[in-house]
Amino acid sequence: MPRSLLTFILTDSAVLLISAFLSPFSMAKNCHNDYKMKFSADEEFPDLSLHNNHMAKVLNKDIYNKLRGKSTPSGFTVDDVIQTGVDNPGHPFIMTVGCVAGDEESYEVFKDLLDPIISDRHGGYKPTDKHQTDLNFENLKGGDDLDPNYVLSSRVRTGRSIKGFTLPPHNSRGERRGIEKLSIEALASLEGEFKGKYYPLSGMTDAEQELLISDHFLFDKPVSTLLTCAGMARDWPDGRGIWHNDNKTFLVWVNEEDHLRVISMQLGGNMKEVFKRFCVGLQKIEEIFKKHNHGFMWNEHLGYILTCPSNLGTGLRGGVHVKLPKLSTHAKFEEILTRLRLQKRGTGGVDTASVGGVFDISNADRLGSSEVSQVQLVVDGVKLMVEMEKKLEKGESIDGMIPAQK
Ligand code: ADP
Ligand code: MG
Repeated sequence: MPRSLLTFILTDSAVLLISAFLSPFSMAKNCHNDYKMKFSADEEFPDLSLHNNHMAKVLNKDIYNKLRGKSTPSGFTVDDVIQTGVDNPGHPFIMTVGCVAGDEESYEVFKDLLDPIISDRHGGYKPTDKHQTDLNFENLKGGDDLDPNYVLSSRVRTGRSIKGFTLPPHNSRGERRGIEKLSIEALASLEGEFKGKYYPLSGMTDAEQELLISDHFLFDKPVSTLLTCAGMARDWPDGRGIWHNDNKTFLVWVNEEDHLRVISMQLGGNMKEVFKRFCVGLQKIEEIFKKHNHGFMWNEHLGYILTCPSNLGTGLRGGVHVKLPKLSTHAKFEEILTRLRLQKRGTGGVDTASVGGVFDISNADRLGSSEVSQVQLVVDGVKLMVEMEKKLEKGESIDGMIPAQK
């Protein structure tokens, strides 16, 4: 039977299925560039020879060949998944993941690539492992007494993805505006300590934006190539904005790297208070979105589904800006961080170096352990590091204080 006749009598989806057997090009029905299937996997495989990210460690020609013709229902392909890691061979301050998800289904459709990346990034986390959630702030021990002479500010953030939309690397303008509209409506019903207002980026002057950024409240302009190469800066600033309460201790970023970033922060070292506000506010937000018939993307294996595989699980980064001029120049600084399962950044965000011995110290893990236990690691670890700093100030050795490998 001629193919045109077949097409004529069959439904669209049946045609898709059948035509997959008729032509190698039709395998890539939803890919952004169908012509790529004219070339072999060898001819299309990216040059990863200079790379140092989790994706580059895992991707090989077999995996690429198996996945390159596939796409998620919304049309995200493996080439979209890896583009940011291909274009960013490494990062000066952190080991990056080198890939992103474009929608909830990316983690399933491209699991041959993403499962080993997740395992590599999250300490051997297996496809059969189950994640844990604990947003009961009362389970946190201590955390209200980090020395404010060293700990300048405390912060806990997470991301949330709203079901039914693609993720920022793949959002259309309409979807992004839809997410913004929904967020404004939902957040408007918060009350008391959480009552706040939404400020769209497009309604701010450059000076207002700069002030919010330098005060650490607002995400940076999309200058990071990690973001731009993943397609997350498209149409900037359309649909982006920040919502915050009056005293800027509870904030929600809309349509940056995730649909929502929920942040609790304040000056000083009272992480307990910050975490309490985080848990209470976050659960209120989840309830409101559910009432608007939009749950958050979650499953028991990956926890909360987010754009960057590094954020799967809790999506939580709990951290402090802390002054450690002596410890940070100690030969064992990196080893201490690794053993405490902590990560360091500069205080201007992920792309900045530390200035004057002040670091952003936060949890390294997000998947497989709960919110409470991740913040507990930060609280206990930072407390120990401040004690070490004080010892070094007195010219004493810290050798006996270095923790064993966890
Ligand atoms: P993330 O994307 O994980 O929220 P980034 O490294 O991109 O973090 O930083 C975003 C902003 O949050 C930056 O302005 C940074 O200075 C600020 N920030 C991060 N941690 C703290 C903290 N403990 N106290 C104050 N500001 C912080
Ligand atoms: Mg960021």
